[in-house]
Amino acid sequence: MTLSLFQNFSILVAVISITLEFVRSSKIQYQSPVIRRFVLGTVGGLIGILLLMSTVPMNAERTIIFDFRFVVMYLSAMYGGFISSIITSVIIAFYRIVVTGANFNAIVVSTSILICGVLLGALSHLKASRGQKFIIMNIVVSASIIIASYIIFDDFNLFLINSFIFTSTTIITSYFICRYINFSITNIRNYWQLKIDATTDHLTELANLREFENRFEQLFEECQSNKMPISFLMLDLDHFKMINDTYGHLRGDEVLSELAQILVKSCRSHDLVARIGGEEFAIVLPRCPKETALNIGRRIRQQIEDYTFCKDSHEIRMTVSIGVSSSPNDTDDSEKLMTLADAALYKAKAAGRNAVIFAQ
Ligand code: GH3
Ligand code: MG
Ligand code: MG
Repeated sequence: MTLSLFQNFSILVAVISITLEFVRSSKIQYQSPVIRRFVLGTVGGLIGILLLMSTVPMNAERTIIFDFRFVVMYLSAMYGGFISSIITSVIIAFYRIVVTGANFNAIVVSTSILICGVLLGALSHLKASRGQKFIIMNIVVSASIIIASYIIFDDFNLFLINSFIFTSTTIITSYFICRYINFSITNIRNYWQLKIDATTDHLTELANLREFENRFEQLFEECQSNKMPISFLMLDLDHFKMINDTYGHLRGDEVLSELAQILVKSCRSHDLVARIGGEEFAIVLPRCPKETALNIGRRIRQQIEDYTFCKDSHEIRMTVSIGVSSSPNDTDDSEKLMTLADAALYKAKAAGRNAVIFAQ
């Protein structure tokens, strides 16, 4: 019995751990809430089926059979809300009837699971603390267990033992698993925040230099192996120091973040836009040949010339110089591609600024 109980518990913990690892490594937390709740509800239902497949007989006559299904139902409601709770309970209730056929006991148990699922789902949206919800929801789970046991068992002792085993084990396990899940969710949030902080420029929210270097190499290799062109735009604001000196550093920052938005809007979603220096930006255009890159550069230069920065305060006008290079036209080497764009940018500055120059 102990071994079977441990087996049932292990299934619960293992699938929860795998789900948490999936949440950490995928971007499901950025999906729409409906999709998230649907996935959580389905995972809950599948765990429920696994638990029902390995139920634990608690007495020799096998009249009391235990598993952690109510823990799953509680967790599904607590972390996924109403939709998850309904999906999980429907799957578990349906499977319970499929396993044993629609006999009296199965119908009572499945009905109690469904009612419990609806109540837990509704209670999960209560405006109460996590602790208060834990208590209220566990009272509902316990009530469902006790009522279903009362209907099923003719023998009062069996009713008492079944109710006690199910309620006490469900409450204790729910408590510790909730602590484990809350701890993991905090870690997952910290992980994603650190990842964003490590790869994003704080001011402009563009890729930072480190992220740029990693992704540029990847994009370059991808284009080379697919025999696709790749182009590079190196941009530097003209006389930016003067903006800081005239309007102050804060306005300078505002100009930089507005410029970042212009650059992102001018590019395709798979282009890489990065801030690689104070007022220097790089744009990597995979699958983009030389002529197209030059046109994109010209369009960006014109947009910036026509744009009024800091409209609410000073109405600042800016220009930008851009150096363009392209592979395989100019080079087959990623580092050289960057150096060539930088050299072209230098020429644009020397030629009087507000210009787009192609690498020679
Ligand atoms: P050029 O046309 O030759 O590029 O002239 P410039 O003034 O733009 O170039 P320079 O390199 O002389 O000055 C760059 C300025 O960018 C100096 C620095 O104060 C400013 N800068 C760098 N990072 C930031 C930042 O994060 N915020 C603000 N506001 N200014 C910054
Ligand atoms: Mg500059
Ligand atoms: Mg500069």
